[in-house]
Amino acid sequence: MAVVNCPTCSTKVEWVEANRFRPFCSERCKQIDLGAWAEEKYVIPVANPLEDFDEDAPPPPRHEP
Ligand SMILES: [Zn+2]
Repeated sequence: MAVVNCPTCSTKVEWVEANRFRPFCSERCKQIDLGAWAEEKYVIPVANPLEDFDEDAPPPPRHEP
C-alpha cells in the first residue's frame, strides 16, 4: 500500500480508494491547500478593494427624464 505525505501538514496518508481527499489527509487540509492557491491567484485584484472601489467605481451616470 502506498503512503504519501499530506502536502499541507505532512501527515502520512494511505493512498487508497477510500481516501477521497488524497493526497491530503483530510478535507480540511485539502481546503487549506486550495485556499492558498486561490489566495495567491486573487492577491492582485483584492489588494486594496476599498480604495479601488472609490477611485475606479464612480456611481453610474443617471439620466433622469
Ligand atoms: Zn493534512
